Amino acid sequence: MSPIGGVGINLAIQDAVAAANLLAGQLRRGAVTPADLRLVQERRAWPTHMTQRMQLLLQDRVIKTVLAGDGPLVPPWPLRLIARFPILRRIPARLIGMGFRPEHVRTSAVR
Ligand SMILES: Cc1cc2nc3c(=O)[nH]c(=O)nc-3n(C[C@H](O)[C@H](O)[C@H](O)COP(=O)(O)OP(=O)(O)OC[C@H]3O[C@@H](n4cnc5c(N)ncnc54)[C@H](O)[C@@H]3O)c2cc1C
Repeated sequence: MSPIGGVGINLAIQDAVAAANLLAGQLRRGAVTPADLRLVQERRAWPTHMTQRMQLLLQDRVIKTVLAGDGPLVPPWPLRLIARFPILRRIPARLIGMGFRPEHVRTSAVR
């Protein structure tokens, strides 16, 4: 995971919540199978890939250009759109703060 956005811990906590939701029952019974673990991976792969895509976009289109310092910086179109319409700033704030697939504790222990 790239350090861009400082989202590693956010993802780690959401991975843990998803794992708890999907595995709590099996863990109580003491029998977690590879198929159970695959369910966690399937649930969390998409938000992880989307987060990494966002990080790559910033790395390749912003940070790399700034570090190279060899010409004017043309931000990618999503950033230009956000600069033009401030209300859109909620979107990256939400994606960084809450992620692409926010998780909520739903185990029977909480109910
Ligand atoms: C230098 C550095 C700075 C960072 N700074 C930030 C930051 O500022 N903000 C941020 O949000 N994120 C940051 N991160 C990223 C963040 O730390 C990670 O994304 C996050 O800790 C991942 O959590 P995790 O629980 O998925 O994995 P980990 O924290 O890697 O936990 C996995 C655990 O499993 C254990 N383990 C592995 N294999 C086995 C096994 N076979 N049996 C038993 N145990 C095993 C490991 O020992 C480890 O304790 C940083 C990372 C690094 C390296």
